Amino acid sequence: MEELTKYFRKGKNIIKAVDHITYKISDGIAFGILGPSGHGKTTLLRLIAGLEIPTDGYVYFNDELMSEPGRIVIEPERRNIAMVFQNWALYPNMTVYDNIAFPLKMAKMSKHEIDKRVREIAEELELTRVLNHYPKELSGGQMQRTALARALVKNPKILLLDEPFSNLDAALRDSARALVRRIQRERKLTTIIVSHDPADIFSIADAAGVIINGKFAQIGSPTDIYNTPATTLIAALSGDINLLSAKVVEDTALIANLRIPLVKGLINDNEVIIGLRPDEMKILIEQQDIHGFVNVGKIRVKVSSYTLGVFRIVVSPISDESVNIIVVSDEPIEPGREAHLLIKPDKMKIFNKE
Ligand code: ADP
Ligand code: MG
Repeated sequence: MEELTKYFRKGKNIIKAVDHITYKISDGIAFGILGPSGHGKTTLLRLIAGLEIPTDGYVYFNDELMSEPGRIVIEPERRNIAMVFQNWALYPNMTVYDNIAFPLKMAKMSKHEIDKRVREIAEELELTRVLNHYPKELSGGQMQRTALARALVKNPKILLLDEPFSNLDAALRDSARALVRRIQRERKLTTIIVSHDPADIFSIADAAGVIINGKFAQIGSPTDIYNTPATTLIAALSGDINLLSAKVVEDTALIANLRIPLVKGLINDNEVIIGLRPDEMKILIEQQDIHGFVNVGKIRVKVSSYTLGVFRIVVSPISDESVNIIVVSDEPIEPGREAHLLIKPDKMKIFNKE
């Protein structure tokens, strides 16, 4: 992508859906694009697929020009790509076999070649036993595998996934992510996945970009983005985080009675935002030292709730009940209790107050 740009006109306004993006995605990797809704993810994928004409800029596959300003150079059908959208929709009146064969029939391939390819991919995706079944007779997992088989049967060079898991229920979502990751790794298939859900990106991508207002706001490994987000917005997009206003006094950040030690001389601002992820803190009833953590002061437990195998505890500094901090804990803690809050200083994020 070179200066790749797409503007839409909306009445008198111009929407900069994709705004001068220059980036090279390496062959064979899974690249993730994380971003809030309406920030240009789908438009960028459609530009890559050749379904949108660039307002400006270029798309290349290797050194071959695909799109240029105002013109599609290579039509989408000739780009050797596969795209999977949210619904993984299958044709309900066709068997699994015919669903998978469909793109090959469209390409006017011989019956013999179609049969060979369908059986190969069915084997790879464990669909051989259900080839004669109709979609309504399939489990959720089999449906996804059929949709993926149909996307891959033409041996595309690039797989484009647009929020592919957002309509699946939680259990299926995990297996779908694992499946896409396995196939991507086994085939070294260049894959671009866009989503607003960091779990989709982090479970599949080798590298990722965060798109905000049609531009990459940060590019790096998923771990980089999660651990060292460049802004509070990226911090919040990439996972649960407490963003807390703090006053800085002599190398200590103060959040009510909580005192967070800072590296000496690092912060000159009087006020900062401290970012603390819920699973990078601990609540202790009895004071004790735990390696890697520092005790930042006393809190009171307000609410304790159970989700996804862990307890989410809402606490407040004892001197200010209006500040809420969410902490993940293995055990429930009774509301009203006073306790100590421990944080991992090396995981703490510090942002300028905007
Ligand atoms: P995302 O996939 O991140 O939710 P989109 O790429 O769909 O974002 O949209 C980015 C912006 O471009 C939005 O403001 C959207 O309304 C606008 N947009 C997308 N497609 C069109 C279109 N065909 N015509 C006009 N505006 C569009
Ligand atoms: Mg979209």
